[in-house]
Amino acid sequence: MDFELTEEQRLFRDTLRDFVDREIRPVVHEWEATDRYPTEIVERMKGLGLFGLTVPEEYGGLGADMVSFALVFEEISKGWMGIAGILGSHSLSCWMIARHGTSEQKERFLPDLAAGRRRTGIGLTEPGAGTDLQGIATVARRDGDHYVVDGRKTWITNARHASPLPVLVKTDPATTPAHRGMSVLLVEDGFEVLRDLPKLGYKGTESCELVFDGVRVPAANLLGGVEGRGMQQVLSGLETGRINIAARSLGIAQAAYDEALRYAAQREAFGRPIHDFQAVQLKIADMAIKVQAARLLVYWAASRADAGDRVDMQAGMAKTFASEAAIDCALASMQIHGGYGYSKEFAVERLYRDAPLMSIGEGTNDIMRTVIAKALTSGKESIG
Ligand SMILES: Cc1cc2nc3c(=O)[nH]c(=O)nc-3n(C[C@H](O)[C@H](O)[C@H](O)COP(=O)(O)OP(=O)(O)OC[C@H]3O[C@@H](n4cnc5c(N)ncnc54)[C@H](O)[C@@H]3O)c2cc1C
Repeated sequence: MDFELTEEQRLFRDTLRDFVDREIRPVVHEWEATDRYPTEIVERMKGLGLFGLTVPEEYGGLGADMVSFALVFEEISKGWMGIAGILGSHSLSCWMIARHGTSEQKERFLPDLAAGRRRTGIGLTEPGAGTDLQGIATVARRDGDHYVVDGRKTWITNARHASPLPVLVKTDPATTPAHRGMSVLLVEDGFEVLRDLPKLGYKGTESCELVFDGVRVPAANLLGGVEGRGMQQVLSGLETGRINIAARSLGIAQAAYDEALRYAAQREAFGRPIHDFQAVQLKIADMAIKVQAARLLVYWAASRADAGDRVDMQAGMAKTFASEAAIDCALASMQIHGGYGYSKEFAVERLYRDAPLMSIGEGTNDIMRTVIAKALTSGKESIG
């Protein structure tokens, strides 16, 4: 068994670490507190080619393997998870267009998406339906060589910057089961951003509610060119999306551990560093175990995807464990910091606010557990 990164992956990780140290760490505290849009960091990410992570090389992207993909989200989230959000749904949708788009759609969108000249996101969730995507109410009615879209989407990351925004719609609302009447439209303009949703954490990147009021979308923008495949296209994209969230969780957990280790060595109580106390040592050991176990699950799920397997179960396991490790480690790190941990002057407070989103986004952990159990009880997957 080989648990090591390749030389190329190590070099890529070092480049990312250097980028995070130079461009993100110096500004994260101030920019996160003011919820400032990190335009300069986005420009630097374009320069590194990161918007082309999941775009094949023939369209000007990096065509990165899934382990390298995970490294990007881990390393950036060690510095600021909100920045990883800007790349997250962009990468998911680039992957979906590369995998399911027509040749014309790939040629038209992928080179610009890879360079960051165009950006994207994913429009699935609605005010009345998130987990239950077959319950969405957004409808696209065919009108000549266009679709006319009516509905609402909410919590859409990157909404102000996305063109095209892949939007899950019902092209045949009467069909049962509902997923057979669902499609993805690549919407370039015409929707209204109603508002930015106020959030506990995940600052820097926008999360918006959108209205589609008779938005006309050319029929040529139907992803893959065939109606009724939207749910299947989206679910395959979410597989990579869950590796991204698992890797972001790992980054948060590692950062919480790093902060705790550093603080416990510096802070003195009763004439000695607090890391001499067994109660603190137990927390540090538990955090290290969780971080390392999360890392193995994340890289394992990513490497199974690189081997060409379907990884619904593996990505679900990695996402569930790593996100819960992030939540546990953020709290333990805060406790090790004592009163300072509760202060906005220390990074651990941000990690504590960012961690819970990891158990919600791209499928809640409840749903991850049902996906894992279904794969095992149906005999499709096994462990041991
Ligand atoms: C900051 C942020 C950014 C986001 N970005 C995007 C984005 O870019 N694009 C996008 O489309 N969406 C986005 N989302 C939405 C996110 O994907 C949904 O919030 C998530 O899928 C859960 O859906 P919901 O909020 O409707 O919760 P619900 O589906 O209403 O779930 C509520 C609770 O019920 C449980 N539950 C529901 N159904 C079941 C079931 N069958 N079995 C067991 N438990 C169940 C859930 O686990 C959860 O605990 C974002 C959300 C947030 C908070």
